[in-house]
Amino acid sequence: MQRICLEWRCRGLRTALVPTMGFFHAGHLSLMRWARANADRVVVSLFVNPTQFGPGEDLDAYPRDRGRDESLARGAGIDLLFSPLREAMYEQDHSTLITVEDLSGLLCGRSRPTHFRGVATVVAKLFNLCLPSVAVFGEKDWQQLTVVRRMVRDLNVPVHIQGLPIVREQDGLAMSSRNAYLTTEERAQAPAIFNGLLRIRDMVEEGETRGETLVEAYRTWIAGNAPLGRIDYVEIVSPTTLEPLPEIDGPAMIAVAVHLGRARLIDNLMLQGRT
Ligand code: AMP
Repeated sequence: MQRICLEWRCRGLRTALVPTMGFFHAGHLSLMRWARANADRVVVSLFVNPTQFGPGEDLDAYPRDRGRDESLARGAGIDLLFSPLREAMYEQDHSTLITVEDLSGLLCGRSRPTHFRGVATVVAKLFNLCLPSVAVFGEKDWQQLTVVRRMVRDLNVPVHIQGLPIVREQDGLAMSSRNAYLTTEERAQAPAIFNGLLRIRDMVEEGETRGETLVEAYRTWIAGNAPLGRIDYVEIVSPTTLEPLPEIDGPAMIAVAVHLGRARLIDNLMLQGRT
């Protein structure tokens, strides 16, 4: 990978990297299409990264369909699908990990304490392997995007980070490979996750500014509309620091994680623009 990408770089070609864990859906494809339109070479990495899964999480069960992924990626016009073996990415005595302090312990980091360390580490490795000018990430994983941006800034990594909007199903559910885990009954309740976010944004537009009131309203919404759901967290946070906001008086976002059956689904919505 390094040899190919270094050669591209030396020829003055701009590479866009789209890091993924596969089982592609329209969200992944929108990142690939953006990359195709904005770079000379497009590399999509497909790697179910073990270091970002905690003990007891779904590493082994994570959905995979290599043949379908290949044909979808080809259809999006990418140049190279990079799917390294686990043993090739991590030597047995692999011992270097990148920790983005503070940000990594908030939101998803509370229930997944080693997750963002794994993400930052694998993303840094992919940057060194693919030497991209630009790397493309979805805003669905807003915390991941924030962590990667912070790492790139702090370590002076010469790559531009491009975030792209969340792609949703027609009923509003954010597309996710993990939606495949949902039973029919769970799937029927899943749109409540996003509809609840819209409800909270309406409340903010109607003048509600108290974080706690908004959080409680979301909890009540889920209890009423997705009784199979179990909230991991719901927080009103600053989109840049991810710190909870007791009171909205500037840029604000609502971020949630909800367990629905075997799936743990995340979503977010900007409540008040970044000024
Ligand atoms: P994953 O394969 O789930 O690790 O996701 C790979 C990339 O696709 C990440 O940058 C995600 O944020 C992005 N992504 C996943 N789901 C969506 C979605 N529904 N809309 C936009 N981007 C997404």
